[in-house]
Amino acid sequence: MKFGTKLIHNGHEIDPATGALGVPVYQVSTFDQGDLTVPREFDYARSGNPTRKALEETIASLEGGARGYAFGSGIAAVSSVLGIFSAGDHLIAAEDIYGGSWRILNTFFKRWGLDVTLVDTADPENIRKALRPNTKGLFLESPSNPLLKITDLRACFGIAKEVGLISIIDNTFMTPYLQRPIELGADIVVHSATKFLGGHCDVVSGLAVTRTEELGKRVYAVQNGFGAIPGPWDAWLVIRGIKTLKIRLDAQERSAHTLSEWLGSHAAVTDVFYPGLPSQPGHIVHAAQADGAGAVLSFRTRTAEQARSFLGKVELAAAAVSLGGVETIASYPVKMSHASIPPAERQRLGITDTLVRISVGLEDIDDLIADFDQALA
Ligand code: PLP
Repeated sequence: MKFGTKLIHNGHEIDPATGALGVPVYQVSTFDQGDLTVPREFDYARSGNPTRKALEETIASLEGGARGYAFGSGIAAVSSVLGIFSAGDHLIAAEDIYGGSWRILNTFFKRWGLDVTLVDTADPENIRKALRPNTKGLFLESPSNPLLKITDLRACFGIAKEVGLISIIDNTFMTPYLQRPIELGADIVVHSATKFLGGHCDVVSGLAVTRTEELGKRVYAVQNGFGAIPGPWDAWLVIRGIKTLKIRLDAQERSAHTLSEWLGSHAAVTDVFYPGLPSQPGHIVHAAQADGAGAVLSFRTRTAEQARSFLGKVELAAAAVSLGGVETIASYPVKMSHASIPPAERQRLGITDTLVRISVGLEDIDDLIADFDQALA
């Protein structure tokens, strides 16, 4: 089956109990165990719920992994996956990851004894240079957030495999429709399903997929033990969102292309970051590892005042955090997604007060361009 078909025919399209076209919402916390002679699949909904299971099986199949797990948020998925490591372990992570992942690695996990070194993974050799005897894992994001920098995933996962690291990638921006990291060598893929997978800005959720059953058991132990699970309604909303992923992303990506080209020729804009543009440094590497450039781009205005004025004047884009919905969202990383990174480090990473990130929605592109034009004037 091709990807678009798999989104609809994922093994859960018909409820076997009733014939309903869809997965029921099992809004329960506990399950009857009969006479206790035969263990039943479900006993308590933190450990497993049929609605959540349908989502977990769907994402595992779409990513091409052995096991899928759902969480109450993307950062719960990231944190729970990091929970498979132990105090005294060392991790290498890409330096321009989502601000919340940066924060949890540099605060909470450091306090608990998981050490992290952040490197520029645009050059995979930096991973080798950061290796220590206790290095156990590699954490990547490509395209990165918010500058859409590209990491050569095959090369990095290759190094991880060679030296025995568990490689993890946040695939939120791409989704399995555009990039399937397990095929490129990743061990674990994480998602904020709040974004393109849910697709409608109506749910907060996270997912993780493991390449092997063995890694799956380790993630499950944290999911069940730590308990950062989504409720069945939220799992159901993500299941529903996933059905239209292809058609949404196809249209959003088309508009993102047009918008990035238009922004590139605007007098108020100094730089545009979008991996779909042939002028971008990572364009060729990205095209070799992904099936599209996605619907997130960022741009720099000449002055910080222009960026702030754009956010105030733009009408068809919400000035908001998050991305991946049917509505265009314009965010200001220095005050939003990356506010938790210290200013000097942000500046070093190029996350300046002139930077605006756009998640392109499903509005008509002509309307978006007309609106952006008046907002940049
Ligand atoms: N990963 C990326 C790339 C994100 O953009 C986000 C949120 O913006 C997260 C993870 C965290 O997801 P959530 O907000 O669902 O916890």
